[in-house]
Amino acid sequence: MKTEKLKILQEEAENCRACDLVNSRNKLVFGRGNPDAKIILSGEASGATEDLSGFPFESGAAAKNLYKTMDKIGLTLDDVYIMNSVQCRPPKNRKPTSQEILSCSPFFSKKLDIIQPSVIVALGSSAGEALGVLSRGASLTKERGKFFPKDNHQILLTVHPSYCIYSKDARVWLEEDLKKAKEYVKL
Ligand code: URA
Repeated sequence: MKTEKLKILQEEAENCRACDLVNSRNKLVFGRGNPDAKIILSGEASGATEDLSGFPFESGAAAKNLYKTMDKIGLTLDDVYIMNSVQCRPPKNRKPTSQEILSCSPFFSKKLDIIQPSVIVALGSSAGEALGVLSRGASLTKERGKFFPKDNHQILLTVHPSYCIYSKDARVWLEEDLKKAKEYVKL
C-alpha cells in the first residue's frame, strides 16, 4: 500500500520542473528503505554516485559514516527510510538553496504523509531547514540532539554524516542522536 503510493509519488516527482536542478541532474533521488519504518533519515542532497544510481547515500564518506554508525548501534536499513531534503543533485555538490529546498518541500511532506514515521532524523542543516527546525545560517550544534514535536511525529536534529570525517565530536553526536531515535521508537 505505502510502496504503491510512494511509487505514484515518485512518478510525479520525475516530472517535477519546480526548480532548475532538474536541468543538470541525471537521476531523481527519491528515497530508499522500508516504507513501514518508524524512523526517517533525511540527508541533504545527492552526490555524484547517487545522481547516477538514483539512490540516496549510495557511496562516499557520508554514506560510510552513516552506515558504520547505524551498524554500531544495531540499526539496519530495514529499520529506516532514507531520503534527502532535495531530490536532485545541486551542481558541483553545492548546498541546496532555500528556494530549492522550498520547491522540493511538497514532495518531502507527501512522503511523510505516506510513511507516517514517529521520528524524522534531520541529518545536517539542510534537512533541519527543510523540516522547519533550523533557520538558514543558524548553529546546528546548539540545537542538535533535541526532539522537536511537529504534527504527529518528532523531528530530531543531528549532524550530517559527512561532518564526521573532520570531527570526533560529530561522530559521537551522530551515534548519540541515532541511538535516541532508536530508543524513541523502542527498537
Ligand atoms: N548522499 C546523499 O544522498 N545525501 C547526502 O546528504 C549526502 C550524500
